[in-house]
Amino acid sequence: MTAHPGALPASLSARTRAVLVAHDVSKEYPGAGRVVDGVSLQVFAGELLAIVGPSGSGKSTLLHCLSGLERPTSGSVQIGGTRLEELGRSALARLRRERVGFVFQSYNLISSLTAWDNVALPARLARRRVRDEDVDRALAHVGLSSRARARPAALSGGQQQRVAVARALAVDRDLVFADEPTGALDSAAGAQVLSLLRSAAGANRAVVMVTHDLQAAATADRVLVLRDGAIHRELLAPTPTAVLQAVTAGGGGR
Ligand code: ADP
Ligand code: MG
Repeated sequence: MTAHPGALPASLSARTRAVLVAHDVSKEYPGAGRVVDGVSLQVFAGELLAIVGPSGSGKSTLLHCLSGLERPTSGSVQIGGTRLEELGRSALARLRRERVGFVFQSYNLISSLTAWDNVALPARLARRRVRDEDVDRALAHVGLSSRARARPAALSGGQQQRVAVARALAVDRDLVFADEPTGALDSAAGAQVLSLLRSAAGANRAVVMVTHDLQAAATADRVLVLRDGAIHRELLAPTPTAVLQAVTAGGGGR
């Protein structure tokens, strides 16, 4: 068992607040059993938190539960002090639109829209004013200015992933979730996306990134190692070696 995944890391405690608090979150699927098993954690404003673990350890399911995309079977998730389990469908959808950005493992771009319109879409859905410059800048940051008018089918997997990142970062949000954001990228594009996520984790914003790339995880402020749906270890100020050891080590303490 890990130390205290819900506790404040010393490096963050004095100056930050929790933007997300999860308590004893579990998710069961018929046939698959308990995919997420009693996870408690906090996410602090300004931090980049990485969640690592083997394939099938429940990372995506946990991210979906934390972001309000899926309802946990039991347990509680609060975002900015609002308890998601108390919200009805439409209130939950509104909270997601207004406060949460999500980079999906499968990109989830709208195939009939250009890259530019895909990036502008969440702000429009949230009825926020999005300036053309903000969309242009988000695409420039991921190196896709020249592909702004292309539809997803005309883009490579890596380019689609970068559009998905630009879409999540084009407007200000309290929380950005990213599921394997570097999974389809070569190392140069991956480094670019990581540094974007790093700088997106700003004063009032937190980024939660699922990854199986240990180098990527080591760029985070904190790493949670997931095993069989439960938090197995927590690492502060991680190095690639420490992450590797934590992922491959057998059960037991720190
Ligand atoms: P990871 O992202 O760590 O690879 P996932 O969260 O995608 O893991 O999946 C964890 C486990 O839950 C897997 O065994 C997967 O088959 C199962 N699972 C995920 N989503 C569903 C679902 N909608 N219905 C049934 N089983 C699911
Ligand atoms: Mg996954």
